[in-house]
Amino acid sequence: MDGAVRQLGLDLGGTKIKLAVLEDGRRVSRDETETRSEDGPEAVLERLVELGRGAGEADSVGVAVPGLVDEDGNALLFPNLRGVWTGRQILAPLEEGLGQPVRLVNDGHAFALAEAALGAGMGGSTVMCIVCGTGIGGGLALDGALHLGPEGRAGEFGHHTVAENGPPCACGNHGCLELYAGSRAIADAAAAPSFDEALERARAGDERAVEALRRAGELIGLAVANVVIFLCPDRVVVGGGVAEAGDLLFAPLRASLEARARVAPLERIAVVPATLGPGAGAIGAALHGAA
Ligand SMILES: [Zn+2]
Repeated sequence: MDGAVRQLGLDLGGTKIKLAVLEDGRRVSRDETETRSEDGPEAVLERLVELGRGAGEADSVGVAVPGLVDEDGNALLFPNLRGVWTGRQILAPLEEGLGQPVRLVNDGHAFALAEAALGAGMGGSTVMCIVCGTGIGGGLALDGALHLGPEGRAGEFGHHTVAENGPPCACGNHGCLELYAGSRAIADAAAAPSFDEALERARAGDERAVEALRRAGELIGLAVANVVIFLCPDRVVVGGGVAEAGDLLFAPLRASLEARARVAPLERIAVVPATLGPGAGAIGAALHGAA
């Protein structure tokens, strides 16, 4: 269609780089490639540019990154990518390679933007979005606008303390939620080689795998309860690879929330699975790029 506004979004993940092109708020194209972060930051940035250029011309570009960046486009902490990213300039090579301005966004915020605007949060007024993958992130959307906080630092849901004297986390704290409920942590607790394998075993009734997912759900529910009693959102959207476990995760999550958030009006707070699937980050990046 002539004259449609084309928004390009790229999502740099630990295993894959995903692409979405939106036209008038609808995804018209998608693509992906392997991240292969073992090749180092330069190769990964080149892969992002190459995938983006393959989508043709766009009116705006947003790129979701798996961690924190400063206001000048330098990476601060990308814990789930190999190689030395900290302090590396990432905005300039992307803008140079793509030949136009690029807006960076944290991947948790990209997920939240997409789900709040076009996914399971549509129509909600205060929407908490949580994305559970290798790491756990998220964002809070208030009447459709994302609460970013200074330097976009809001929404680090995975670094809730859930065990006061728990093991050390890459963030410097101890006992963070993602050490128990991230996909790698669940795989380890299930003694499985990967999260997908753990999920398959749990579906087949393997007790250790079921327990690993139950415990993850319980702790996510605990962290959700802590936020819910303060904010009283009308919707809590939970997505990411870990949420693919469905009721194996959501049943203990809801039970834990109900057991703890006694003072919240839970009958008016819907806890719902995300609906956009693994492409949400790229869609949110595209929305952010045009914002
Ligand atoms: Zn942490």
